[in-house]
Amino acid sequence: MKPPPFSYHDPRTVGDAVALLGRLDNAKLLAGGQSMMPMLNMRFVQPDHIIDLNRVDGLAYIREANGAIEIGAMTRQRDIEFSDLIRKRCPLMHEAIQHVGHRQTRNRGTIGGSLCHLDPSAELVTVAAAMDATVTVQGPNGARQIEFAAFPVAFMTPAIELNELVTAVRFPVWPDAHGYGFSEFSRRHGDFAIVSAAALLTEDSAGKITRASVTLGGIAVAPVRATEVEQALIGHAPDDKLLREACESCRKYDAIEDIHAPANYRQHLATVMSRRALEQARARLNSHAKR
Ligand SMILES: Cc1cc2nc3c(=O)[nH]c(=O)nc-3n(C[C@H](O)[C@H](O)[C@H](O)COP(=O)(O)OP(=O)(O)OC[C@H]3O[C@@H](n4cnc5c(N)ncnc54)[C@H](O)[C@@H]3O)c2cc1C
Repeated sequence: MKPPPFSYHDPRTVGDAVALLGRLDNAKLLAGGQSMMPMLNMRFVQPDHIIDLNRVDGLAYIREANGAIEIGAMTRQRDIEFSDLIRKRCPLMHEAIQHVGHRQTRNRGTIGGSLCHLDPSAELVTVAAAMDATVTVQGPNGARQIEFAAFPVAFMTPAIELNELVTAVRFPVWPDAHGYGFSEFSRRHGDFAIVSAAALLTEDSAGKITRASVTLGGIAVAPVRATEVEQALIGHAPDDKLLREACESCRKYDAIEDIHAPANYRQHLATVMSRRALEQARARLNSHAKR
C-alpha cells in the first residue's frame, strides 16, 4: 500500500518545525514512522503536509538532571532499551520497553512518537503515567510543561495544540532501593498489550510500604492509576493476602471492549496483572533489603 500524496518538509530546528506547523494547514509530524506510516498507508490519516522531525537538531538524548531522567522526544526506543542510565535509574522503563513491538520497530520508533500516538496499550504510555512524567511541549509562544496525568484528553489524543510539538519527557527517579515490576498480557510477544500493569514500591526499615504507584494500561482509553490499590498498600507489609485483596479492586474500573477482549476479561486481567507486577516489585524490594 502507498500513502496518499503529501508535501514533505524537512526542518533542521525546533523553531522551524513549529513555524511550519503554524503556517501549514492539515500538517502531521513524522517521528519514527512506526505508527504514522501504517496510518498513512491505510488512509486513517490524509495530511496535506508531512513535517519530518528526523533531522531536527537536539531532540535525541537521555540525561539525568534535578532528580529526573530527561529524554528527548526523538530518542529511539532502542537507545532507551540499551541505555545504562535508564537501566540503573529508571529500571521500570528498561523492563517495559522490552515489550514494545520488535527490535526493528524499536530501532526507528521514538519515545515522543509513542507518547503522542497515545495508544492506550502502549507500554511507554503506561510507564509515563506510573512515574508521574512531565511532557515538555514547544509552540509559537515558547515551551510549556504538561503533567502526564493531564496529557491524554481523549482516545489517542494528547493535550497538545496543532501548532505544538513534544520536545522532551521528564521522569522523576525513585530512590535506588525501590521495587519495580511490569507485567502484561498480549496474544504474542511484540503485540500491544491487552492489559498491562506497572508497579513501583518503597518500604521502611520495618518492611512496611511507604510509597506505591500502580498503573493499568490497555483497560481504558488512557492509563488508569489504581489509587485504591496504592492506598491499601501504604503502611502495611505487602504479604500475599494483602496484594490479592487490594488488586481485586481493579475489577471495578470501566473497561474498553474490542475484537481482542471483552470488558469483563480486561477487568479480570487488571486484577491479575496488577498483582503480578506488585509481586515482582516486592521481590525486588526484598533483594535490596538483603544486601
Ligand atoms: C509491528 C509493530 C508492532 C508494534 N508494537 C508495539 C507495542 O507492542 N507497543 C507499543 O507501545 N508500540 C508498538 N508499536 C508502535 C511503535 O512503538 C511506534 O514507535 C510508536 O507508536 C510511534 O512512535 P514513532 O516514533 O514511530 O512515531 P510516528 O509513527 O512517526 O508518529 C506517531 C504519532 O505521533 C505524532 N508525533 C510523533 N512525534 C511527535 C512529537 N515530537 N510531537 C508531537 N507529535 C508527535 C505523529 O504526528 C503521529 O501522529 C508497534 C509498531 C509496529 C509497526
